[in-house]
Amino acid sequence: MNSHQSLEQRNFDVIVIGGGAAGCATTYNLAIKGANVALLEKYDLNTQASGRNAGSLHGQIQFEPFHELGMKWARDFLPGLSFLASSLDLWKNLSAKLDTDLEVGGKGGLMVAQSASDLAALEVKVKLENEIGVASRLIDQKELRELAPYISQKMLGAAFCPIEGKANPLVTAPAFAARAREAGASIATGVEVFEISKENGKFKLQTNVGDFRAEKVVLTANAGLPKLAKSLGLELPISDVPVQVSVTEQVEKFVNHLIYFTTEKLTFKQANSGSLLIGGGWPARYDNSGEAVLNLDSLQSNLRVALTVCPSISKVKVIRTWIGVGNGTPDHNPIIGELPDAPGAYVGMYPYMGFTASPLLGEVLSDLVLNSTSKIDLKPFALTRF
Ligand SMILES: Cc1cc2nc3c(=O)[nH]c(=O)nc-3n(C[C@H](O)[C@H](O)[C@H](O)COP(=O)(O)OP(=O)(O)OC[C@H]3O[C@@H](n4cnc5c(N)ncnc54)[C@H](O)[C@@H]3O)c2cc1C
Repeated sequence: MNSHQSLEQRNFDVIVIGGGAAGCATTYNLAIKGANVALLEKYDLNTQASGRNAGSLHGQIQFEPFHELGMKWARDFLPGLSFLASSLDLWKNLSAKLDTDLEVGGKGGLMVAQSASDLAALEVKVKLENEIGVASRLIDQKELRELAPYISQKMLGAAFCPIEGKANPLVTAPAFAARAREAGASIATGVEVFEISKENGKFKLQTNVGDFRAEKVVLTANAGLPKLAKSLGLELPISDVPVQVSVTEQVEKFVNHLIYFTTEKLTFKQANSGSLLIGGGWPARYDNSGEAVLNLDSLQSNLRVALTVCPSISKVKVIRTWIGVGNGTPDHNPIIGELPDAPGAYVGMYPYMGFTASPLLGEVLSDLVLNSTSKIDLKPFALTRF
């Protein structure tokens, strides 16, 4: 028996393709604004990046690209950072809005440094973030010890970003989908869209369960975007790197912040359950059949870095490591807008930190589709910039 949900109706005002956080948030916003909307998802909802991420709510410029790509890149990324900051505002009331405990919390983010040169770089980064109103600041070793006594004494200080935190990725997209359904949205899983074309002024979507038609389509297919956009005449430079996240057994609550490290990749936080989540973008590897599988070297490195920053976790057991495909754009900014050669078709994709961005992305895409307006300046995110 097919456990997927199918749809009798075949014609809609709007069809959203891709049931991750972006697609579910968009469908929710379209439905509550009265659109006759369907969401088509190839697998089950929330099974790809949105259900496999580490649940960090990011609000500062990441150190690795800042260090490697430099000031020009960082300045060009400020609109993307501003987008995250505005989305973080929406996260504050999202549990109430979606009538679900999304486990939104945390007391900010700490990007810790163990060298004077990294601290100096953090100071520059903080100034840049302050320019767009993100109230991050540099803290010294003394304040770091007061805020996070479990951090290694070797760390000299940190960039503290008070708007950062965490949420539970396993419940977020499903909550958007549940409320979307209640508002009248049709949601079908196990439906893969193969090709999109225009026929008699409408979009025709060819799928494994037959054709669907819509006045407008929204592509929130993330890793599946390049293929779909190609059928509408657009090349999208989206990269995909499988990365790992590990979770530990549940331990007494002691980490209140989202922790990063400047020297090597790390995100580290404690979920409401008490489990520690250890990630930061360490790559998985591909096996001979092309499938992404565990990279033991990456796992060891990730745990070594976590121990360097937080030595007291040496006895905590890792119980599971999983892999998700992280999708990127060359400039780290999102891709949001109407396809130039296919009016009525829209793309929405936020790279690397798209879980954080999803509440705002859903609002912005629904405004674009229904009213051709956006409360955010979308020029920096135009599809034509590549
Ligand atoms: C391991 C990992 C850790 C991460 N950690 C964080 C973090 O801590 N914080 C953060 O903010 N971000 C994080 N990210 C990034 C974040 O998860 C993604 O940016 C975000 O989930 C993207 O959401 P999405 O809805 O666009 O994509 P997805 O969740 O990938 O959803 C796209 C959906 O489209 C479907 N689809 C694709 N093609 C088709 C088709 N042809 N027809 C029908 N359906 C289709 C897919 O099956 C999928 O369900 C992480 C990513 C990974 C991989």
